[in-house]
Amino acid sequence: MSTENTGNTGAGAESTESGQDQYTLQDPVSQHPTIEPPAEAIAPPGLEREMTPLADHGAGSYRGSGRLKGRKALITGADSGIGAAVAIAFAREGADVALSYLPEEEEDAQRVVELIEAAGQKAVPVPGDVTDRLYCNELVAAAINGLGGLDILVNNAGKQVSVPNLTEITDEQFDLTYKTNVYAMFWITKEALPHLKPGAAIINTTSIQAYSPSETLVDYASTKAAINTFSKALSQQLAPKGIRVNTVAPGPIWTPLQPSGGQAPEALPEFGKDTPLGRAGQPAELAPAFVFLASQESSYVIGETLHVNGGMPTP
Ligand code: NAD
Ligand code: MG
Repeated sequence: MSTENTGNTGAGAESTESGQDQYTLQDPVSQHPTIEPPAEAIAPPGLEREMTPLADHGAGSYRGSGRLKGRKALITGADSGIGAAVAIAFAREGADVALSYLPEEEEDAQRVVELIEAAGQKAVPVPGDVTDRLYCNELVAAAINGLGGLDILVNNAGKQVSVPNLTEITDEQFDLTYKTNVYAMFWITKEALPHLKPGAAIINTTSIQAYSPSETLVDYASTKAAINTFSKALSQQLAPKGIRVNTVAPGPIWTPLQPSGGQAPEALPEFGKDTPLGRAGQPAELAPAFVFLASQESSYVIGETLHVNGGMPTP
């Protein structure tokens, strides 16, 4: 466990920060260190300060350039990992951000709220459980009230629990994994849609697991395939209305989801080493993909999957 924690910016003794902004030419192999996390689980949903090493969310490196000026974004799972990196980047690009996360993740969420406000943008924290239909309704309403509208929806909250045998996946786990990853996306999108105008963007977080599923992630991997096809179908429906739907498919990224049950503890020291880059990705490396798909730069990009996976080939 890291005890010398300075916050969830990856600025601790075992820093994973690149130290350079996203425009600086670097060798991607060594841009972030090859991490070797201990074979120790943390309690779900996992907090950033419990991670060894700490992750890099781009707090010390992401440089905005007005690409999302004046936009209003709702991001689920925005307290930590990929969602936190996206929230920080969106704010630095000029967007106000509503954040969904579990109440027990308040300390991670507050850190992101501070960073959004430090970027001069509004943050609207809305804690709750996305497996609760009522909360999903309230979340969208709170985001729209707090932000004064909605232009960007990022369905990013996710549940991943590694189980070696299908017979050991409890019905409860199967249900919660589908509720978190698939149903919540449906519910939140359904609530948000009447408020979205031409120019709006929906971005759903899928996974390399939709293409190259692990034997221990049968339930999780299949939710990610569902997210892919849901997104492609919805993109066809909404394109004529001027609303673009796309997905980002991360590879192995160092986030609380992984040590908190997403991987078996014994798999953690090797996490991400089997990619062509030879290392796990950091949340900071995901943010530019979401920024691109949220911004007007991607006006002709619809129903697409942007892979950010260290070089693993996908169909
Ligand atoms: P993370 O743990 O930092 O983020 C996941 C977030 O989901 C949590 O912080 C939590 O706020 C939210 N969440 C989970 N259950 C919830 C619930 N019932 N109610 C409300 N919020 C809930 O991990 P992450 O890796 O950044 O995950 C973000 C997304 O990226 C997920 O969809 C995950 O499946 C996907 N993903 C991650 C990886 C990876 O290697 N880390 C790879 C591919 C895809
Ligand atoms: Mg979290």
